[in-house]
Amino acid sequence: MFDVAVVGAGICGCSTAFMLAKAGLRVALVDAKGIAGGGSGAAGAFIAPKFVKSGPVKELSEAAFHFSLAWYEQHFGAWTSSSRLLHIANNALSNARVAYFKTHTSLPFSAPDPQLLTQLQPQAQAFESLLLASSAVVDVKGACSVMAAEAQMFKIHVKSLRHERGLWHLGALQARHVVLSTGAHEHLLDIPYFTPRAVFGHRINIHTTTHNPLNMHQFVSISKSDSKGIIAIGATHDVHYNPLRSEVSYDYAKGRMELLEKASRTIALEDVEVMEDFTGVRAASIDHLPLLGPVVDFLKTVETLPKISQGKEYNINQYKYYPNLYMMNGVGGYGFVLAPYLAVMLRNYLVHGSAIDPLVLPSRFVRRYMMQKCR
Ligand SMILES: Cc1cc2nc3c(=O)[nH]c(=O)nc-3n(C[C@H](O)[C@H](O)[C@H](O)COP(=O)(O)OP(=O)(O)OC[C@H]3O[C@@H](n4cnc5c(N)ncnc54)[C@H](O)[C@@H]3O)c2cc1C
Repeated sequence: MFDVAVVGAGICGCSTAFMLAKAGLRVALVDAKGIAGGGSGAAGAFIAPKFVKSGPVKELSEAAFHFSLAWYEQHFGAWTSSSRLLHIANNALSNARVAYFKTHTSLPFSAPDPQLLTQLQPQAQAFESLLLASSAVVDVKGACSVMAAEAQMFKIHVKSLRHERGLWHLGALQARHVVLSTGAHEHLLDIPYFTPRAVFGHRINIHTTTHNPLNMHQFVSISKSDSKGIIAIGATHDVHYNPLRSEVSYDYAKGRMELLEKASRTIALEDVEVMEDFTGVRAASIDHLPLLGPVVDFLKTVETLPKISQGKEYNINQYKYYPNLYMMNGVGGYGFVLAPYLAVMLRNYLVHGSAIDPLVLPSRFVRRYMMQKCR
């Protein structure tokens, strides 16, 4: 019997299990494939902010970036490689966005020195750029394994969830609370108001004789060279191909070509040998914000508040919720930046009774879903 069962051992589940176990709770971490066997295992795990103009996505991204970078460096230093980040615009629109970002960010940055710029391709030099004082790349398997070690790990495919006499039953496991961090996989319960938008991605590790002194981001992210001359390049974005739902095999050669071509528009890479491919699916949300918090019991809510289907607005406290059931999902291409920040929010909610930022509550999608359905 556990205080909390976390379903899904990607970065969302692992960071949640770590935070809750450190707060003194008995935590079971459950995954069909083991640690970081889903989208997280494919990630380049760059810790960088979103270079967007303004609004809640930017604010959340910068707050999460600040928190998560320090958190990885403090707790997982052996698995965190820190570096400055050179962010370069890649078209006219992003040129304007980077220029705007520079005048509106709280993050410390400088102009790249001319010596650094000479290492870039001429067309990359022509774009707006900024040099962020800090960023990192996390070793996914290493860091997630240390996080998971704080909990009790179970390699089980959870087929169903049942709530009986105050406890959730996940096969033979029982827990008072359940956190669903199942990424782009099928929901275990009826949650029709949130269908994760699956974005397939491919990244590669290459060996090259070119020395890259820092993390770069333009058409793709390019990590600084490690001591063996290995550089991570990622990632592609494909919303049409989803290996979780399709039997069609993936064309690795095409993906490699795309990645190398995009990286070579930023920096010329010599004597390239592709060492390893990584592929996986990100789970995104339609408003680009993650989902964290109590899970609405949709059918009970509609039964209790039938006028919601006519567009009537209710306070979300009037919605019906599954008992002690929470989700963390929709972190898109920024799971390694967002998850630790969200995990603290969830810990503070469960352990200290603090509020969760309303912007990320899953309940925000319920009325929107009903309105669309009834249109
Ligand atoms: C190629 C690529 C590159 C990326 N690069 C970056 C990057 O540089 N920086 C960054 O921040 N993010 C990056 N991302 C995004 C990041 O990987 C995701 O945001 C993150 O993996 C989401 O984590 P998650 O825990 O929500 O999902 P996942 O890692 O997919 O974990 C979900 C887990 O749930 C398990 N599961 C599902 N259903 C069940 C069930 N019924 N029973 C048991 N287990 C179940 C699955 O086995 C899986 O392990 C990248 C993603 C890809 C694909």
